[in-house]
Amino acid sequence: MPLEKVLIANRGEIALRILRACQSLGIKTVAVHSTVDRNLKHVGLADEAICIGPAPSAESYLNIPRIIAAAEISDAQAIHPGYGFLSERADFAEQVEKSGFVFIGPSPDVIRMMGDKVQAIRAMKAAGVPCVPGSGAPLGEDMAENMRIAREIGYPVLIKAAGGGGGRGMRDVRTEAHLANAIVMTKQEAKAAFGNDQVYMEKFLENPRHVEIQVLADGQGHAIYLADRDCSMQRRHQKVTEEAPAPGIPEDLRARIGKVCTDACLRIGYRGAGTFEFLYQDGQFYFIEMNTRIQVEHGISEMITGVDLVREQLLIAGGEQLSIRQEDIHVTGHAIECRINAEDPDTFLPCPGTVKRFEAPGGPGVRVDTHLYDGYQIPPNYDSMIGKIMVHAPDRGTAIARMQLALAETVIEGVKCNIPLQQRILADVGFQRGRQNIHYLEKRIAEQREKAATGK
Ligand code: ADP
Repeated sequence: MPLEKVLIANRGEIALRILRACQSLGIKTVAVHSTVDRNLKHVGLADEAICIGPAPSAESYLNIPRIIAAAEISDAQAIHPGYGFLSERADFAEQVEKSGFVFIGPSPDVIRMMGDKVQAIRAMKAAGVPCVPGSGAPLGEDMAENMRIAREIGYPVLIKAAGGGGGRGMRDVRTEAHLANAIVMTKQEAKAAFGNDQVYMEKFLENPRHVEIQVLADGQGHAIYLADRDCSMQRRHQKVTEEAPAPGIPEDLRARIGKVCTDACLRIGYRGAGTFEFLYQDGQFYFIEMNTRIQVEHGISEMITGVDLVREQLLIAGGEQLSIRQEDIHVTGHAIECRINAEDPDTFLPCPGTVKRFEAPGGPGVRVDTHLYDGYQIPPNYDSMIGKIMVHAPDRGTAIARMQLALAETVIEGVKCNIPLQQRILADVGFQRGRQNIHYLEKRIAEQREKAATGK
């Protein structure tokens, strides 16, 4: 049954993005918001709006009973979780379905499996997806055994929380002397942050790139991949600048890894949009995790393939089969995304406050996904990302130049934002040559700090 009314269980730019996709399909929308978010752009544009609680996420955007009650009151058929918040919570998807609504995403079982990284890696190995050499199982109490595993993998190793996310719950270990302590510390942190103290071990790759494959599957026997994205420019394991396609991946390898991902989707009965995240080093892909939702950086894949991923999510949730076949997917040109965060570009501290003036960049191949407007008050309660600037051009060099113009044209007054950092990234010769890896940005930031401190 095609969807007629969708509740958007999110805020900010992604809520607006979902609203637009619904409108393009003639689907009615219900916005839910916290008290500080009543002036969000999508709240004003939605057919209905319901306040679900005070500013703290735990009492609003993470409050499952209130969101389900809002769906009941508004008679929505389906709930789109966006990214973050409840988007990867299997218990939420389960309660949505049990209450008689459609969850726009994969089944609760698949979310649960992928949310436990140890289980996800096992399932992917079984499906023939190449993984990072690792323990393959949660680490036990026996430290002698853990040391044996680490020696077999070879130092440096990374201790990772099975339930981790958002770049947290990871610790690299360079020598055996530090192993036991790192395991204990990561377990404690994981317990506190994710309510699950299971940790596992992986080879710590020294200079990989983060390359991810976007997929769409209908849960009815069809799955496609929509090329890849390079998200190596990271700070604290959080993506800052992304591009699509990933530069320098040989076409035959791209096709091979894409096929591995779509085969895995069919095998696990995947439904909806999803991303297989890999580390890529020395021409090899190593699976690290799967994200079972739409991602922040989905727009650059849309630009190079012409596929509207959120629209496809809505169609799939409405029971339709994928109408796009793999042979229909042709990559054109190159796209780059800069995440715009309300933060100090040097200290990275969040800078909430009132946006006195906002002017978006424009021109051919420029797309801005943001909920900002003049006078918008950025609340301190949520993520500091206030929008995304994306550009599309015939080739990577032109895309970089186009992004530089777009960043220069953007006006955000009243709050600090990371545009100066993005400008430094775009002007960096190593980045321009496509030499980035996951540690590159942090190294450059450290070098610049040192230069500033020593005055050289
Ligand atoms: P999260 O769910 O917190 O995002 P991921 O497993 O996706 O965690 O890893 C996030 C980032 O951490 C990666 O993009 C990469 O920068 C780094 N990372 C993860 N695993 C490894 C590894 N085995 N070696 C080196 N870096 C890693």
